[in-house]
Amino acid sequence: MHREMKLKIDTTEFLRDLDELRTIGAYKTGVHRPTYSPHDIESRHWLMNRMSSVGLEPTMDGIGNVLGRGNGGGPRLLVGSHIETQNHAGWLDGALGVVAGLALARAGLNVDVCAYADEEGHFGSFLGSRSFVGDLSEAQIDEAKNSDGMPLRVALEAAGLKGVERVTIEPGRYAAALELHIEQGTQIEKAGNHIGVVTGIVAVQHWRIVIDGKQDHTGGTRMDERRDAGLSAVRLLAAIDDAFPRLCSEDTVWTAGRLVLQPNTALIIPGRAEIDFTFRDLSEAVMARLADCLSLLVQENNRREPTVARLERISALEPTPCDPAIIAAFIHAASEACPDGWQSMQSGAIHDSKIIGRLLPVGMLFVPSIGGVSHHWTEDTDRSDLAVGIEVFGAGARAILQL
Ligand SMILES: [Zn+2]
Repeated sequence: MHREMKLKIDTTEFLRDLDELRTIGAYKTGVHRPTYSPHDIESRHWLMNRMSSVGLEPTMDGIGNVLGRGNGGGPRLLVGSHIETQNHAGWLDGALGVVAGLALARAGLNVDVCAYADEEGHFGSFLGSRSFVGDLSEAQIDEAKNSDGMPLRVALEAAGLKGVERVTIEPGRYAAALELHIEQGTQIEKAGNHIGVVTGIVAVQHWRIVIDGKQDHTGGTRMDERRDAGLSAVRLLAAIDDAFPRLCSEDTVWTAGRLVLQPNTALIIPGRAEIDFTFRDLSEAVMARLADCLSLLVQENNRREPTVARLERISALEPTPCDPAIIAAFIHAASEACPDGWQSMQSGAIHDSKIIGRLLPVGMLFVPSIGGVSHHWTEDTDRSDLAVGIEVFGAGARAILQL
């Protein structure tokens, strides 16, 4: 039963796989592999080959998910991430978590490895992992397009996936799902650490704030007559930015990523402002406080301003806490491999594990991103940190399988 205990992760092979994968669609020191592009499909076939070589039985399904099934008995883990990239992006984002799965399989751990298609959202939002958990309809596939307007159906057909059946998660097959990923931030690096044990993936609320005023002439309309939606928007955002720090946790982030005025021209007073506002935190209590605050400030706008504001909820993702037993296993492994060199942290970025976490206990482990850079071809991580990362990931996985 303790066969796995003797087996060790082959770090050299792990790094070799990563180096080989980065040659497919190489761009400067990074990679350009948009979902379903020829290089993306080539990398999926490369992965299937590598899966076979470590004893997994590979398939590519109708959405492009590559799943390598192991045939060991006993508890089994699902290990995965994605291998397509953002445009002209980094060599590790996603690839790391998939290649880590290969390393675990090579070490004899009872795992299936999956590369979920289009985590990076070229055609939709988490298409592959959503399809795998049974939350992607044929109608949604019919509607999806990329930013060039290419329909997903056309891309799938060009990739040779037309009519190929989609595979959903086999109930009862997995004890848990694990993902190794780069941090995509600077917390680990700034702390001088090498490992981040993820406590959970944040909740995200996306609201649209619509402010109606009155479109008018910028010269003829006196200040006391104006109902300037633009100025109300700016004051409302300043009020939010003033109030949130009193209610948030130290990890909360908020963003007014889109502000559009109508008609958005120099000589007309804006009659309408639309703001897309998002905020993230792991704590449901913090998220609820911030949502209440947002709605109070919108009401406050309507009392004090000559404009009328309203809130539309665009989407809300629940928090995904990582499984306590997995967190404990990773902490134990991290303490052994690099005492004083690890930290606990939340994931402010969303990953495939958030989707898989709807059906399975999940755990994630981070390695540092140099300078916090990702989604850019200069993205990188020290090879020594990659080596520590796979060691801790493997030891944690082994412990979880023996729980
Ligand atoms: Zn990623």
